[in-house]
Amino acid sequence: MEDLKTPEEEKPVRSLNFIEEIIEEDIRNGLNESRVHTRFPPEPNGYLHIGHAKSICLNFGLGKRYNGKTNLRFDDTNPVKEDVEYVDSIMEDVKWLGFDWEDRLYYASDYFEQLYQYAVTLIRKEKAYVCDMSAEEMSETRGTPTRSGKESPYRSRSAEENIDLFARMRAGEFPDGSKVLRARIDMASPNMHMRDPVLYRILHAYHHRTGNQWCIYPMYDFAHGQSDSIERITHSICTLEFEVHRPLYDWFIREIGIYAPRQIEFARLNMTYTVMSKRKLLELVREGNVSGWDDPRMPTICGLRRRGFTPESIRNFAETIGVAKRDNIIDVSLLEFCIREDLNRRASRLMAVMNPVKVVIDNYPDDLVEEMEAVNNPEDESKGKRAMPFSKTLLIEREDFMEDPPNKFFRLAPGREVRLKAAYIIKCESVVKDLKTGEIEEIHCTYDPQTKSGMPESNRKVKGTLHWVSEKHAVKAEVRLYDRLFTKENPDDLAEGETYKDYLNSDSLKVITAMIEPAILNERELIPGVSDKFQFERIGYFSLDKDTSPGNLVFNRVVPLKDSWAKTEKVK
Ligand code: ATP
Ligand code: MG
Repeated sequence: MEDLKTPEEEKPVRSLNFIEEIIEEDIRNGLNESRVHTRFPPEPNGYLHIGHAKSICLNFGLGKRYNGKTNLRFDDTNPVKEDVEYVDSIMEDVKWLGFDWEDRLYYASDYFEQLYQYAVTLIRKEKAYVCDMSAEEMSETRGTPTRSGKESPYRSRSAEENIDLFARMRAGEFPDGSKVLRARIDMASPNMHMRDPVLYRILHAYHHRTGNQWCIYPMYDFAHGQSDSIERITHSICTLEFEVHRPLYDWFIREIGIYAPRQIEFARLNMTYTVMSKRKLLELVREGNVSGWDDPRMPTICGLRRRGFTPESIRNFAETIGVAKRDNIIDVSLLEFCIREDLNRRASRLMAVMNPVKVVIDNYPDDLVEEMEAVNNPEDESKGKRAMPFSKTLLIEREDFMEDPPNKFFRLAPGREVRLKAAYIIKCESVVKDLKTGEIEEIHCTYDPQTKSGMPESNRKVKGTLHWVSEKHAVKAEVRLYDRLFTKENPDDLAEGETYKDYLNSDSLKVITAMIEPAILNERELIPGVSDKFQFERIGYFSLDKDTSPGNLVFNRVVPLKDSWAKTEKVK
């Protein structure tokens, strides 16, 4: 596992967030012998996304901060939507983020027998009953927030009859949907969750862990709080929508008579230009709008990983946004800022040309190849230098040349000079165009041998500095340029009749062929996920994709660069 020391841990101490304040208060009061024990409780019905990452960082972060423990628990109560594929991916993602549940991996399905017994306890106390109403009848009699519901005609069944019926439900005597077990609370409660909620349903479905052992399954609400109680979680941290469920969870704990965790709600993470619901992400995958859960445009952890995000950048993002009590939406550019900051420190620099045009140095010897010295990472001297071959025919970005430029264009133009980074100052003498299209085919230049970079006499200053590669030495690579997946800042905020898919960005992926300096081939371990992240100078951060095969390099653009070589970048 990677070194866990992250920038946030080097930053000055920040003030406590509201959850830490509650926890510190509980520690001072000696609640639960001052233990801190949290959990991350995903339902294995999809891949994790950046919102989950926030919850992971929060829960595991608190465990670490207070010398406590954090469990990983799969809330696997819905066999129809769950799958081991998701279980495996979730474990991989939590580990990759840099967290460790040690020997505390749990499944709500491990508690099915215990939960069944809890239900029997409630039945014995006449706090639960078997109801034969159909789903439609139940929803019809539930009432509305302002109008009481109607009590079920089965509500007065005796405890004995209910225990018998519940046992026969478990034994498989009844078909799906024919009966449910309901709590007996209050059909007039202003809180709809308290109106005799369903605790168990009949579902003759294969479960990825318990197989065909069960044909009744507890509802999420009946499993979640009790699972926390069984694991003696001290602080059950969940998102705001569970605030209204809290009275129900408290009721279960009290009526069953078991240990009570403290539930604390925080605002879920929303991010601009993306959707975060697992249902929608699954839909994008199924309908082929993206190439899979790990498509680099997805907000999933595996998508971000494939795109080239680092665990450090995501942890730093989670720390920076903090925790809020009210729903909000975070600008995706903050996440981009975090990865830029991290890769600026760690990524090796290389020169690569995305949209090449030929530069011929007329006064340079035809067959000469010089080795220029280029710095691998100006932020980290220990990364050293590399050699870049320089020859008569070079490639530069087409955008770095203008035939008829405005005054403030500090790049190449007829009669003007620029420095080729780590090499010479060149001057544009003439251009060769395609006679039919008028497109520039070659830019003819002369170089000044006195200006070789690093030489004492090379101090002559010019305003522009360009990146370049030597044409005959450059290596071809497929480069995938990503843009936001949606064109709308909040694709969940829709008018009547719209769907979030109306706002899919049709230009979110552009594939180009770039020319990269040959040092890319010297990278000892050019393996996705290992030594795979680079800054292509003046362009952005790029990460080797898993589609790379021998002789065929594939890169993802992680983020474009900003603020680099600011002088040349001002003109656009
Ligand atoms: P669903 O809406 O399908 O229930 P979910 O996003 O709540 O999905 P879970 O697997 O239940 O998914 O989530 C696991 C944990 O992650 C929960 O504790 C939940 O509170 C937290 N979580 C989920 N989405 C976010 C988010 N956007 N921001 C912060 N935490 C989140
Ligand atoms: Mg959930």
